[in-house]
Amino acid sequence: MVKEDKIASIADLASFCKKNGFVFQSGEIYGGLAGFWDYGPLGAELRNNIKSLWWGAFVRKREDVVGIDGAIITHPMVWKASGHVDSFTDPLVDCLKCKERHRADNMLEDVGVENADALSIERMDELIQKKKIKCPKCKGDLGNVRRYNLMFRTQVGPVESESSISYLRPETAQLIFSNFQFVQKINRMKLPFGIAQIGRSFRNEISPRNFLFRDREFEQMEIEFFVHPDEYNKCPFMDEVNELVLNAYSSENQLKKQKMKKIALKELVKKKIMKANWQAYWIAKQYYWFIELGVSPDNLRVRQHLPDEKSHYALDTWDIEYQFPFGWKELQGIANRTTFDMTQHMKYSKKDLQYFDEETGKKVVPYVVAEPSQGVERAFLVFITDSYRKENSGTKDERVVLKLHPKLSPIKIAVFPLLKNDDNLVKKSREIFNELREHFETFYDSSGSIGRRYRRMDEVGTPYCITVDHKTIEDNTVTVRDRDSMEQMRVKTDELVNYLRELLSGKIKFSK
Ligand code: ATP
Repeated sequence: MVKEDKIASIADLASFCKKNGFVFQSGEIYGGLAGFWDYGPLGAELRNNIKSLWWGAFVRKREDVVGIDGAIITHPMVWKASGHVDSFTDPLVDCLKCKERHRADNMLEDVGVENADALSIERMDELIQKKKIKCPKCKGDLGNVRRYNLMFRTQVGPVESESSISYLRPETAQLIFSNFQFVQKINRMKLPFGIAQIGRSFRNEISPRNFLFRDREFEQMEIEFFVHPDEYNKCPFMDEVNELVLNAYSSENQLKKQKMKKIALKELVKKKIMKANWQAYWIAKQYYWFIELGVSPDNLRVRQHLPDEKSHYALDTWDIEYQFPFGWKELQGIANRTTFDMTQHMKYSKKDLQYFDEETGKKVVPYVVAEPSQGVERAFLVFITDSYRKENSGTKDERVVLKLHPKLSPIKIAVFPLLKNDDNLVKKSREIFNELREHFETFYDSSGSIGRRYRRMDEVGTPYCITVDHKTIEDNTVTVRDRDSMEQMRVKTDELVNYLRELLSGKIKFSK
């Protein structure tokens, strides 16, 4: 009987990622810079896999979504129109003794106040007093809560003046709105359709924490899905998602202090708990994406924003949440943003950005029924957390294994010569390695015992290892070893590429 332990804490996860070269604190040789991270070779591969799988599923394989790649710094009026310059704030509180700054809502949540970010500044002040909250660093008294703008300001060009100030984007979404008309016209897109983007975003977070969960520089994968304002309930693809059964935590359940419920998506739509079926469809598609990439459905839920939690312009917002070692937290937000953004950009740019509906001959303001907005780093955390196992079968042979979906694995195949000093084995292994790397991310390793080489590959999630031994020289077969079952079988070298391709794509299962 194998005992399986999950990752115990976010600190353990951070040291696991560092030890295996996935992620390092940025600028660590100078003491590090909070909220910024550098990705090592395996981390860079995993990030790229996450992004290309997301882009593949939601852009390349769809006729109704196209992609863009907007600038990180754009015209400052974009951020004025979106409301970020004036009101993209978090509640900040200073320690009167050591001067450390903290995020007031996070401190309240740490002592059990739910959805503290929905509270007014005055209410936060009251609760800090009532719950006798002190500075976590020095136990000093805290000052009054105030609003702090998270935008990173920068200067554009050589002359410093008010008009040269711009901002690093805090989200990718606004570039989609400001480019809506170009993209729609040039690509002859007809409503309903989406525009997607993957790119870096920057927020000067008051207290970045929980490893990659809250960063100052991060990357978003976002879609704005536009529909005709009268047609947000006319999704033709509901059959694809109706049967999804998920953990749902409606705002009503939260307000009544009830537990989340396991419920079919079609029930949520029928009971109008999810208000627009296009939005329900996008929530389900994003939920499925994680499940299809191996995330346990027990660790996922959808949570509806409370009435005073959601942005003032959003009709309904749902978060996909994951059960992290530090509790259920937002993985992705999916807001119904209505016509708010396009209306704002029309007002500030004084341009007519409406969509011309050829059928009715009328213009309409495009309605954003769903904005799936996913952070790459939070997806990265989820895939590692969910696939991490420390297996102990009672012998001294404990192993750490990342049971990553093969599509996510940074290395797909590892090739080992049984002995590193045997010229024949090394030559044959290099030949096989060179052939396989034409097809898959392949890694060559000849150092240490075979057992240790297997363990190293298990720990970074490599699904299959190939060992070249003396029998290979005699009969042109190699040992293929499966990460999850640890079983091994012999395969002919001339069948290896096809066999591995079928295994990795899930067409066939590994069996002896
Ligand atoms: P939170 O409440 O956690 O601050 P948010 O509601 O401000 O998040 P959104 O503005 O909805 O987040 O951003 C969409 C997504 O972008 C989030 O679900 C998350 O995956 C990612 N994201 C946002 N802020 C950060 C951050 N500081 N670090 C890493 N990822 C982030």
